[in-house]
Amino acid sequence: SPAVNAQLRAEQVTVSFGAVKALDDVSISVSPGGIHAVIGPNGAGKSTLFNVLSGVYPVTSGTVVFADLDVTKSRPHKLVRAGLARTYQNIVLGHVTVEEAILLGRHHLTRAGFLRCALRTPGARAEAKAARQSVHHLAEMLGLADSLHRIATELPYGDQKRVELARALAAEPEVLLLDEPVAGMNGHEKDEMTELLATIHARGDTTMVLVEHDMRMVLSLATHCTVLDFGRVIADGSPAYVASHPEVLRAYLGS
Ligand code: ADP
Ligand code: MG
Repeated sequence: SPAVNAQLRAEQVTVSFGAVKALDDVSISVSPGGIHAVIGPNGAGKSTLFNVLSGVYPVTSGTVVFADLDVTKSRPHKLVRAGLARTYQNIVLGHVTVEEAILLGRHHLTRAGFLRCALRTPGARAEAKAARQSVHHLAEMLGLADSLHRIATELPYGDQKRVELARALAAEPEVLLLDEPVAGMNGHEKDEMTELLATIHARGDTTMVLVEHDMRMVLSLATHCTVLDFGRVIADGSPAYVASHPEVLRAYLGS
């Protein structure tokens, strides 16, 4: 069964906010190496699922398993260290330069960073060099090389979304959760981001889970698709299969 080979999975997860069940007995199984889309109407529970998978929200009941470990109670920083990074639907960049924002994503890769920096040991110098190279490489790849010293929040919106992606990639994750990476972008920016995600995925070492509204993007990128509606899974399978599923059409067209 796919659950056995899953890299990341939720089993019978329920998340209640008072009387609202944001997730209601949701199971999802993400296989290594693919691009797994999670789609569904507004309020379906997609961001809540990401918040549960990344340790931001606790479950009311159910289990989350990452790389064969029960991580149901793991905090976000522990999951990042274990190889699971994410972007946020609403960007949360502070008043920092693009370079600093991307560096923050690498934070957990720096062991005992503070002490070594304070003592200016050779190890600290080597890490600082590796960090700088990684940031510059990512900035180059994401078209941010000329913006490294600008304040991140002062960039155009589409560029800020790419900074947010660079920050998550800087953690060198095995699994990357992307919450609406093209939301609010114009058509040209969307196409660029879609191409970028395909390029990153083609490097072959990052499994992606993608919350996305744009069905065109899902069909062009995703290898698997789970559909949520009112906190429940209503369809799960290949993108082409779910796109023609009657319940999915009903949920999307509201008929
Ligand atoms: P989606 O990302 O699919 O649009 P969400 O996961 O953001 O949906 O929300 C699913 C439901 O859970 C909505 O009814 C939303 O209002 C509710 N919800 C999400 N987060 C919270 C929270 N922190 N407190 C209360 N209700 C929440
Ligand atoms: Mg959402």
